[in-house]
Amino acid sequence: ESTGPVQRIISDADLAGIWVTNPTRRLFGKSGPTKLDIAVYYASVGDYMLPHLFDRPVSLFRCPSSKLADCFFQRHPFTGMPQTVKAFETQNSEGEKKTFITVEDAKAYLALAQFGVVEFHVWGTHESHLDKPDRVIFDLDPGEGIAWREVVEAAVHVKGELEGMGLVPFVKTTGGKGVHVVVPITQKLGWKAMHQASSAIASQLAASARDTFVTTMGAENRKGRIFIDYHRNARSATAVAAYSLRARPHLPASTPVSWRDLESIDSPGDLNYTSLPRLLSTSGDPWAAINESCRDLQP
Ligand code: ATP
Ligand code: MN
Ligand code: MN
Repeated sequence: ESTGPVQRIISDADLAGIWVTNPTRRLFGKSGPTKLDIAVYYASVGDYMLPHLFDRPVSLFRCPSSKLADCFFQRHPFTGMPQTVKAFETQNSEGEKKTFITVEDAKAYLALAQFGVVEFHVWGTHESHLDKPDRVIFDLDPGEGIAWREVVEAAVHVKGELEGMGLVPFVKTTGGKGVHVVVPITQKLGWKAMHQASSAIASQLAASARDTFVTTMGAENRKGRIFIDYHRNARSATAVAAYSLRARPHLPASTPVSWRDLESIDSPGDLNYTSLPRLLSTSGDPWAAINESCRDLQP
């Protein structure tokens, strides 16, 4: 196996001096993307990711081999962790004191790719204000028989309803079948009140388009409909982070888009590890204003 040219690339300053071992290891089969592809991707989007992840507790999805079956979620510190991954203690959902992690600089995404990290998932809050969440997520999960076009239309409907409530919604693809509608809120409510408010909003959204939405879990219920999953709005629940790749063939990315551009996406899987860095360098971050768009969520 020739690693000559690859080694020249990875010793390049663009990769911030981080040595990537097994750079040619392919993730999903013979023609799948390599570990180096993932490292290069995170090296180029790190600056865009950081504002959306900084100080947020993060769960890492690590793929240490070439098989998807070997991937696992990790939300606690590990040996050899990059220095800019910060550990902090808090209670988990069972009330036990545990150590969690946050990623504190843009280079750490690349450094974590060296540890086989493919996906980043974040809490809807910051470590410095853990119990006052600042993001509500409506995870739109299409059931069997729902086409992408219908997901887009439904998301645009949700946008209108949320704006009618005085909120400022943002949208991203998930790298999967649905979208995440993300609402920045001022850090005032606790988790319980925020979850209840998100549940009430989900019910109201469903009532505004009964043929489109359901708010009850289960594959049967969502057949031909879109499940409004509001259960991400809980302490220690995560959603895939903005600009995170997904561990699937062709590495799609969870991609923030402007509402206008959402309607021109034909196939969200095309937003991936090769296309996104180019897109970002020409058009910038469509979520740049998200932190200034927080509104009060009424309990
Ligand atoms: P899709 O558009 O295909 O639904 P998604 O990322 O929204 O993609 P979901 O299954 O709806 O996938 O999950 C929503 C979020 O919940 C994920 O982004 C992830 O952060 C979190 N999640 C889901 N399953 C797990 C799991 N087994 N362990 C940890 N977190 C999970
Ligand atoms: Mn989803
Ligand atoms: Mn879901």
